[in-house]
Amino acid sequence: MKSRNPITEAMIAPCGMNCALCSRHLAGIHNLKRSQCPGCRPRNEGCAYLFKKCTGINHSAKGDAAFCYECGQYPCEQIERIDKRYRKNYGMSMKDNLEYIREMGIRRFLDDQYEKHHCARCGGVISVHNGKCFQCDTINRLVDKNR
Ligand SMILES: [Zn+2]
Repeated sequence: MKSRNPITEAMIAPCGMNCALCSRHLAGIHNLKRSQCPGCRPRNEGCAYLFKKCTGINHSAKGDAAFCYECGQYPCEQIERIDKRYRKNYGMSMKDNLEYIREMGIRRFLDDQYEKHHCARCGGVISVHNGKCFQCDTINRLVDKNR
């Protein structure tokens, strides 16, 4: 299973967001006629949400930015804000993701993410934004994140 995990290290943004689960990224992979994005790191323009206001290690960083937990200011106000928004709206926590990466390493995190966010029907990746598998169009319920 690990060999077909489409979630790669480059998909994990400095804030802990898994870009592989983003609807805009999935739209790009599946060539949908709608807003697309290659992912925060591949896009290489710096984070529009965080870095504009970042006074820490990523203030001028782009695709090679460090994970935010490596910053002396972590968790900063910006991270707290996006973490709160994602926990509330999408059942995902940037801070939990970063904590997992810090403790278990990026490889384990990537496997864990695929385990939690793949489609039971076809193995495709499920969007964290709408619970949809962009490969077979099945709407999946989010897997219990405390499992
Ligand atoms: Zn599917």
